[in-house]
Amino acid sequence: MSDTECRMSFVRVWRLPSAVLLAFHLSFFTLRLSAAPIEFTEDDAHVALAAASNLVERCTPRDAGTLRGRLAAHWILDRVSRTGVDATLDKFHAPTPDGERPFANVIVEFPGTKTNAAWIVVMSHFDTMPGIGDGFQGANDGASTSGLLIALVRAIRRAGRPSENIAIVWTDGEECRKSYGPNDGFQGSRRLAESYRARNRAVKAAICLDMLGDKNLNITIPANTTPFLKGVALAAAKRIGAAEKITVKDDIVVKDDHSAFLEIGYPSIDLIDFDFGSAPGLNDWWHTPNDTLDKISAASLLVSGRLTAEILNTLQQ
Ligand SMILES: [Zn+2]
Repeated sequence: MSDTECRMSFVRVWRLPSAVLLAFHLSFFTLRLSAAPIEFTEDDAHVALAAASNLVERCTPRDAGTLRGRLAAHWILDRVSRTGVDATLDKFHAPTPDGERPFANVIVEFPGTKTNAAWIVVMSHFDTMPGIGDGFQGANDGASTSGLLIALVRAIRRAGRPSENIAIVWTDGEECRKSYGPNDGFQGSRRLAESYRARNRAVKAAICLDMLGDKNLNITIPANTTPFLKGVALAAAKRIGAAEKITVKDDIVVKDDHSAFLEIGYPSIDLIDFDFGSAPGLNDWWHTPNDTLDKISAASLLVSGRLTAEILNTLQQ
């Protein structure tokens, strides 16, 4: 090889990586400008079911304000961190009918690429209803959607940075100790909604998922939901071929974790299966020892996960 050939070869060697690097930068820049749609897959649904089962097996019961409740929050923190995201534990104390108690929300935030991006908050409570008995699993009521959120974090991460900010939150203290009131129930979601107001965060939607692992899935959107979000959810259900699984019930009001956001004036929606029982129209497994792992399925979590992903994709447009 002559000296000239040697130099040319040197130039070629270095030009090639530059071109590759330029192409990489261009594709990366393009990716950052337009978020890829979030796709919730069958594999995600199996991850959701496994996570729900693990939560039940390791943290039953997990009543708010108890050591086992705190253990559940740490378990979720550890489990979701293993998907490769930064998760935080927001520990706080709040009054209850039994005095001040410790609570903890688990939070994962995906910053959006848009300038002045708004927030979309997706929540599920992980605590169990106290007083049902030590073996109360809360498999559908709490664990199913807690597992779903772990799988949803994977799906969002795969899609890359969203255009709006997305927060995924596992809330503590959704269940009341005696009866719902200012100091009983919703401690986690009230803390969360207040923190958004205090930081002047613009909220595009607060989405509450509850009891959506039921094998016989019937999703209700209650009256106390922001009207435009009812439309978004119904259209999303239609697009994923699950229109028959979701119903708007304007004759019922469900107090759930979205309520704290709604009271502040943030657009909010509750997606809940309140038809969880031994026969259609009955809700007789709710808050009973019958709320067990055999009543939830990956198939239902797939529908619920795909619906949530499609709602998120709509809200990011
Ligand atoms: Zn409950």
